[in-house]
Amino acid sequence: MKFAAFCLATLFASVNAFAPTAFAPKTGVGPLHATAEATKAFSKLPASIKPGVVTGKALVDLLDTAKEQGFAMPGVNIVGTNSINSCMEAAKAYGGPIMVTFSKGGGQFIAGKAADNTDDKASIAGCIAGALHVREVAELYGVPVVLHTDHCQKAWLPWIDGLLKASEEYYAAHGEPLFSSHMLDLSEEPLEENIAICKEYMEKFAKVDILLEFELGVTGGEEDGVDNTDVDSSRLYTQPEEVMYAYEQLSQVPNAAFTCAASFGNVHGVYAPGNVDLRPDILHNTQKYMQEKLGCDDDKPMKFVFHGGSGSSVKDIQYAIEAGVIKMNIDTDTQWGFWDGMREYEATNREYLQGQIGNPDGADKPNKKYYDPRMSLRSGEEAMRDRLIQAAKDLKCENVLN
Ligand SMILES: [Zn+2]
Repeated sequence: MKFAAFCLATLFASVNAFAPTAFAPKTGVGPLHATAEATKAFSKLPASIKPGVVTGKALVDLLDTAKEQGFAMPGVNIVGTNSINSCMEAAKAYGGPIMVTFSKGGGQFIAGKAADNTDDKASIAGCIAGALHVREVAELYGVPVVLHTDHCQKAWLPWIDGLLKASEEYYAAHGEPLFSSHMLDLSEEPLEENIAICKEYMEKFAKVDILLEFELGVTGGEEDGVDNTDVDSSRLYTQPEEVMYAYEQLSQVPNAAFTCAASFGNVHGVYAPGNVDLRPDILHNTQKYMQEKLGCDDDKPMKFVFHGGSGSSVKDIQYAIEAGVIKMNIDTDTQWGFWDGMREYEATNREYLQGQIGNPDGADKPNKKYYDPRMSLRSGEEAMRDRLIQAAKDLKCENVLN
């Protein structure tokens, strides 16, 4: 943290991203974490971080701690309360933070597939509904939870505009944003345009203490309707100069806080071994390049996030964490986990699931307790939880709270 601040202080006006002074409440309602600053909720984390949703300075403190201590939190795509609760249950079990991630399609699914999605209305409403669910229950799990949104390309910006409006209203009432962070993925655009739009949004986000995750280069593969399977392979590897340029531009925004999704051969989806050439050394080289350019003590000036982590080797994942990766996205593997739990439930109880009445115990025996949707969904939740506990182990995110 202090090294990062040193870099910024040396070169830019925007020191101390999300510093307490930047939290001047608009309505006389104090920021939630400022009042309880003195007491630590978690022995291994800064006092700003409390159980429940973390935003602003608490989020920056959490990510800085992850970078310094060498762990990354799972960033998990969710589609409803079942997968959201699996995330928090897993985090409680592994003793670390979790990032609950809403995609535009996931938000729409939460609102309901039949809901009117003109102008992304359902995607916006579903993400807000999901975020409010998390805010209502997160503290019950006793872990830090980050509320985040996933890839947003240029044409989808109205979706983020709708969510930003919700955060601005939430900030006016509670002194913090509804969402902790948003990703903008303008990697389809030329670099200058990508960063110019990111900077414009960084200015809006910084006013309500929202962190920006931006993307440079292209994550390969296909996810949630975005298909990059035929992108030229050179674009799958981000250049250090590009990261430095983005860092310089975004650091000019007062109260800016950001993370970078750089491309180092990462691909969405799971493919047969040998099809993905992951190059975490690109992240190491970028940090080295930036440290030299900035002339700072911090050997990891940029906080990176890792997309397309499903199917990667633990060795590659941990080598990427050593290069300042503080979050890894997981979608494909947890999708499989949830399904596999439900599949196993059905396989185990098949003979009790063929009709409302009648099973191997008797032709007149009722099956209600087997086909209650909570039974199969709970099996999905448990399997997703277990997959996330494994992910936390791979990400060195176990027992990082106390
Ligand atoms: Zn991604």
